[in-house]
Amino acid sequence: MAKKIYERLEAISYSRPSGSVEERKALEYLAQEIRRIGFEPELETFSYTRRVPVKATLAAVLEDGKEVSFQVTGVIDSLETTPEGETAEFAYLPSYDEVSLENLKGKFVLLHGRLSKEEYRRLRRAGIRGYAITSGTVRDTYENSDLETTRFRDNLSDLGPLPAYTIRLIDAVELLRVRPKKVRYTLQLQEETVQSRNLIVTVPGTAASDELIVAGAHYDSVPFSMGSWDNGAGAVQMVSLLEYLKAHPVRRAVKVILFGSEETGLRGSRAYVEAHPEVIEKTRAMINVDVGGSILGKELLFIGAVSDTEVWIRQFLKEVGYAAVTVQKLMSSDSANFNDYGVPSISIGQGAPQGGGYMHTRYDNMDLIDENVLEREAGFLAALTERLANATVFPIPRVIPEALRKEAIDYFGEKSHLATQPPIPEEKPLPFHF
Ligand SMILES: [Zn+2]
Repeated sequence: MAKKIYERLEAISYSRPSGSVEERKALEYLAQEIRRIGFEPELETFSYTRRVPVKATLAAVLEDGKEVSFQVTGVIDSLETTPEGETAEFAYLPSYDEVSLENLKGKFVLLHGRLSKEEYRRLRRAGIRGYAITSGTVRDTYENSDLETTRFRDNLSDLGPLPAYTIRLIDAVELLRVRPKKVRYTLQLQEETVQSRNLIVTVPGTAASDELIVAGAHYDSVPFSMGSWDNGAGAVQMVSLLEYLKAHPVRRAVKVILFGSEETGLRGSRAYVEAHPEVIEKTRAMINVDVGGSILGKELLFIGAVSDTEVWIRQFLKEVGYAAVTVQKLMSSDSANFNDYGVPSISIGQGAPQGGGYMHTRYDNMDLIDENVLEREAGFLAALTERLANATVFPIPRVIPEALRKEAIDYFGEKSHLATQPPIPEEKPLPFHF
């Protein structure tokens, strides 16, 4: 059994970016495995558009007018410059304190880390004209690292994009060392339509119940990465779940979904929740798996539900003897789209110790994957799904608590569905009397 799950993961451990032939090929393999178990998967195609960089340059302009160019990638869905490019004064911004944010008007800034909405709001208020965010580590070389292409995130969209770039951290060091007065930069974008697919398997329930559970995982990867850890592991665990459910029928129906194009903005799950209001209506909870199978690291459970559910899950972990830490939080994965459509979620993941995890890099491959960890995780997924699907009364209230609601609205920005819906209040127990 452990061997089988490992072999399945090995079989799809190659780069499977959104819309690629490889993404398609991996799904065909998984579909074939699912047919072998005895289920007939449905395939649903969806498409989305994005503006991808076709030209991105960044050069330091020195005192004497000489220029030093650096390799950069443009940020998808950010903002074009004029074709001939723009020149701006340069500033380094390792933090967002008041002193650093002073006197940035019209400047191009160098930043670290993922921009939060509040950070971006302050940068916009300070009047910056463009920015570059670093990627990688100072130990990288050009040969052993890849420069990623990131995306202008939905949660920043209402503040408006700016010309934005990703630069290797080793190049950022060089950029700072040449002490540029100004930088010259160009960015040209082109709209493209991407086609991708979800795979859906409906496992019928044994009871006459309208309620159902969705269990899902994304099967795409970012470019360069083999996506074994993120998230081939989750995809093959879903196949194991189907094997389990075939042998152990449950009361409520379970829809197992493999989502495409998660890495480019949770596209598959968004397409699914938008296209199936009748399914969403009946869905009592969504169980998501994103990241797993490494011999290193701890199991994480992100609870996208009321606090009582976190208490319930912690009891369940003790009962089944599964070591995991829980947090009540919106997970930046496919479960977030279900939360945004009012469905509570439990998102299962794995956190690596410092230096032991290489998410979204070429080092996310089979090297650290362990068959026993994969099997243990799949076992927990099956136990949790079975427990929920067989419950007499569903233990998770179909409510998105206020804090999670705020997180979802902030996360999806203009695209948030929850923002358009009235909140559902939590039901209090009736007062006790003899
Ligand atoms: Zn992932």
